[in-house]
Amino acid sequence: MLSIGVSIGVSRFTSQDKALNVLPELQKAEVNAIEFGLLNCVLGQANIPGTVPYPTEKQTKAIVEDLPPDQYYLSIHGPYRISATSEEPKKLQYSKSNLSKSLLIADWFGAHHVTFHAGSFKKKHNIPHVQKVLTEWEEWRQHKGYNAKMAPEVGGKYNSFADFFTLVEIAGTIDNCLITWDISHDFARGGNITTEEGVLKRLTILDQVFTLNSDNRLPMHFSGMIVGKKGESHHTLLDHGTGVPWKLVFSVLKEQNYLGKVSIICESKVPKNEKLKGNALTDVVRLKKFLESDQLVKSYKGRPGHLDYYLT
Ligand SMILES: [Zn+2]
Repeated sequence: MLSIGVSIGVSRFTSQDKALNVLPELQKAEVNAIEFGLLNCVLGQANIPGTVPYPTEKQTKAIVEDLPPDQYYLSIHGPYRISATSEEPKKLQYSKSNLSKSLLIADWFGAHHVTFHAGSFKKKHNIPHVQKVLTEWEEWRQHKGYNAKMAPEVGGKYNSFADFFTLVEIAGTIDNCLITWDISHDFARGGNITTEEGVLKRLTILDQVFTLNSDNRLPMHFSGMIVGKKGESHHTLLDHGTGVPWKLVFSVLKEQNYLGKVSIICESKVPKNEKLKGNALTDVVRLKKFLESDQLVKSYKGRPGHLDYYLT
């Protein structure tokens, strides 16, 4: 069965009504996945402009009670505050605390995993460092008895950690650790998902490394994306971006019988100061209709942005 949906931001300042006022629209669109976003949440009195406190247990459980039971595949998007690439012990400690809080909230929601950005990527040699950090966080996760899994996300910029294959390689050495495959990020940083061969190569390695099924789905993101010289510039709507090959990627997944092994969240949005018609929900409905049709797209006709080269 298809697991597909959008993200909803939550924090201490979100009223329960506001958190779920999109619910009737989700039901109308017949989507069945929700990613609760804690993107700007921080621990304690951080006093950082633009940040908000995490939602409380009471708030979280009230939201869950309002959801129709067993209808939604739930996940969490952790805050920007998490970095596994930092080498400063204090920053790593702070990251772990924020991850820990996100995992706890994920469990309150009954969410399957916590997606998070692994950090910036300045030195080639920090691959073993990230591996060590994530391994330690996984041990911590088990020690605390959290159910939600960690799912670091493929970064959209060249200087963000990390590309698809690096991340799979690292997660593959850590029990329970998944990755979040954001195809728009993968595309933006030069990943070869513009050919069937490139997509198949990814599915093959995912099958080698993870045990994916309808209860343990690989988190996926997609959206419109503006790509610049350094990779991701910003998210937009599908029709207004740099030609993310979403029809090709999802056609290959469909042909390979892979849709029952992934959970798809749409992160499309109207960029600030732009007036465009549509939102994440209208884009996710487009994907859903595409997948429910007989249409298959086997080649990419777009222009892959401003990239000078492709990785793999
Ligand atoms: Zn994403």
